[in-house]
Amino acid sequence: MQVKDISRTKSAELYEKAKTFFPGGVNSPVRAFKSVYGTPLFIQKGNGSHIWDADGNEFIDFCGSWGPLILGHNHPAVREKVTEVMQNGMSFGAPTALENELAELILTNNKFIEKIRFVSSGTEAVMSAIRLARGYTKRDKILKFEGCYHGHTDALLVKAGSGLITFGETSSAGVPKSFADETIVIALNDKDALQKAFAEFKDQIAAIIIEPIPANNGLLLQEQDFLQFLRDQCSQNGTMLIFDEVISGFRVGFEGAAGLYGIQPDIITYGKIIGGGMPVGAYGASAAIMDNISPVGPVYQAGTLSGNPVAMGAGIAQLTELLKPGFYQELESKTTAFVSAIQQYVADKGYTLKIFQLGSIFWFAFTGQEHIRRADEIDAASMAYFKIFHRELLNRGVYLGPSGYEVGFISSAHTMDDLEKTKLAIFDSLDIVYLSQPSPKERAL
Ligand SMILES: *Cc1c(COP(=O)(O)O)cnc(C)c1O
Repeated sequence: MQVKDISRTKSAELYEKAKTFFPGGVNSPVRAFKSVYGTPLFIQKGNGSHIWDADGNEFIDFCGSWGPLILGHNHPAVREKVTEVMQNGMSFGAPTALENELAELILTNNKFIEKIRFVSSGTEAVMSAIRLARGYTKRDKILKFEGCYHGHTDALLVKAGSGLITFGETSSAGVPKSFADETIVIALNDKDALQKAFAEFKDQIAAIIIEPIPANNGLLLQEQDFLQFLRDQCSQNGTMLIFDEVISGFRVGFEGAAGLYGIQPDIITYGKIIGGGMPVGAYGASAAIMDNISPVGPVYQAGTLSGNPVAMGAGIAQLTELLKPGFYQELESKTTAFVSAIQQYVADKGYTLKIFQLGSIFWFAFTGQEHIRRADEIDAASMAYFKIFHRELLNRGVYLGPSGYEVGFISSAHTMDDLEKTKLAIFDSLDIVYLSQPSPKERAL
């Protein structure tokens, strides 16, 4: 089937203009379509599971603003709450009842944290959690895993060097080497490396931070056993375990990955879904740990717009929907049916593709591997397949995040009809991908 490229005239014009204002024409680099075809699409509006770009093209959206929009775009409950709150003004820099309301909603339905602090982004939540762990343990080093993203805070913009256990090498200019020296980086799913790190840096590691469901570099699903091992090792070594649940929090269940795996971390960070599409992040822990935060404790952390009433309103409205009975079961069964149908098509055609899925998160990996648990197990060459796949899907009215390393999300707004249409678009697109890029299996024939 021959499908015409979508028109991008208006988006291209806006992009040219944007390039004169912003570095690379964008306010966040992932938006720049660097690893897929064409100029970025400028989005004009979204409703439910659909978005429209400046040229009037309509897409079924599986990016969902990179995760926050679990109810889809412009959900009436969220929109109405925000509109209502705004009638009273937008920011006071003083406490409001709305902060209590959102906190109560979260804390009474999440047994893993007793107190919470609202901030304005996931990055800020992680940055604060790290400071809290350092302040609490009076240690400086932190340990992270290659392939986990924790926002753009200095201490975590580091990647593994060569070798089993390494000090991080900065992955961004502007991060002092001395900062990166405080961060140890090891591979996911590697118990040996973890034990060696604890032996080598005895009594020095303040915290281990992990995305318990790593979803920023493919979907690198970990086994419960490995996460439990982290928990046990942290407890034995006086190290805090931080679950960065900025994506997984409220996504795989109201209690996120902690609830799913039944593991109690020391600190949990949230973002994305918690703000209903508004800029909100949060970190939470036991009351004893949280009371180390200013103004009661010595760890300083503040924010002019923290707990902003409009953002709190959006969070309250969104999380209230998530607490309705059956919400997550329905989302998951819808996603599983969608993924299974595609996986069946792939099997029938003999294509080399594996869709990794957990709850309503999915990731297309152009690979024959049954499991991918570490970043270095991803075949970089397979991204060539994704590039064509992405272009063909856009031409067929389906929007995925513009990188093969990004996961997709299904929202409660995706209808059976949306998913039927998307499946057909995916089948067509896969045919084209494998026509132009023979799969390794086909090549071997
Ligand atoms: C998105 C994300 C962040 C950063 O959140 P921002 O709101 O973009 O600053 C941190 N950690 C994880 C796991 C994320 O997915």
